[in-house]
Amino acid sequence: NLSVRFGVRRKGGFFAKPTYLTAVDDISFTVRKGETLAIVGESGSGKTTAALAIARLVSGLTSGKILLEGRDLLPLDREDLKDMRQKVQVIFQDPYSSLNPRKRAEDIVREPLDSLTDKSISEKREIVDGLFKAVGLHPEQKRLFPHQFSGGQRQRIGIARALSTQPEVIICDEPVSALDVAVQAQILNLLRRLQTEFGLTYVFISHDLGVVQHMCDSVAVMYMGKIVEHADRLSLFNNPLHPYTAALLSAVPSVDPMLREQSRRILIPGDPPDPLDLPKGCRFASRCPVAEARCRDVAPRLKLAGSNHRAACHLVEDETSPLAGIRS
Ligand code: SF4
Repeated sequence: NLSVRFGVRRKGGFFAKPTYLTAVDDISFTVRKGETLAIVGESGSGKTTAALAIARLVSGLTSGKILLEGRDLLPLDREDLKDMRQKVQVIFQDPYSSLNPRKRAEDIVREPLDSLTDKSISEKREIVDGLFKAVGLHPEQKRLFPHQFSGGQRQRIGIARALSTQPEVIICDEPVSALDVAVQAQILNLLRRLQTEFGLTYVFISHDLGVVQHMCDSVAVMYMGKIVEHADRLSLFNNPLHPYTAALLSAVPSVDPMLREQSRRILIPGDPPDPLDLPKGCRFASRCPVAEARCRDVAPRLKLAGSNHRAACHLVEDETSPLAGIRS
């Protein structure tokens, strides 16, 4: 039941009445140890806010529970947060802005060890050397500054930094979206290898379903702050139940001409609703190709629609997509 709200002011400046924008609205999910949960959705869906809330990195009002091995991370005080931050680390989206340009690569990677642990200088040096090798950088590059690295190499530094405290969970916030396609594949393969090597659990944020298909064990699809579908990877990609997920998947280009022939593109008309004035019914109703009258009045609840498959749509019955008719 995680929710995150931000105070905002409407047009009218300082004297306008303050109101709240609910970026993440009462969502629940589980990530199994050693696996990857992808959270996907368009800009403004709440996916990044939800993931960064896990690492206690959002400034909004957060409510609900975030349980790591049974312990709620939300009420932790400053000292306990240090312990939690060793276990939950983040790889940020933009390797150009997430590294301090005035620090050498080795100082950047060592920073979490300095602030969160009391390891000796020699222990830290040994860890940093090991991490440079683990992420495919040469130890001689340790003394260089971020601007002396390529984008892919910078993201490797960001990954090494996230690994430095031996975390259990890593939030990967669109870690390849700022990189060239060829470099994306290298970084994704590196992340997969490190996951196996160190037994890591990933929460992987992305708007790119091609990337998600390569990385995840399960997927949660978010729309306007809500999870609208949540399933194991195969189940979601082979049988998307929510009309929004089906439309997202239909937009993924395929290199297979047969598949291209078979799959019809489902267009989503219009824009998402105003997040400060959400409709009382289904938030997707104004854009949904199969919306009914009841969709505008009653908000659908996320319900089980098959083993390990949940969807929030009035028309979803027992693993049957409401779009089955219009896609053929
Ligand atoms: Fe479309 Fe209605 Fe399902 Fe919402 S509840 S996704 S509007 S069919």
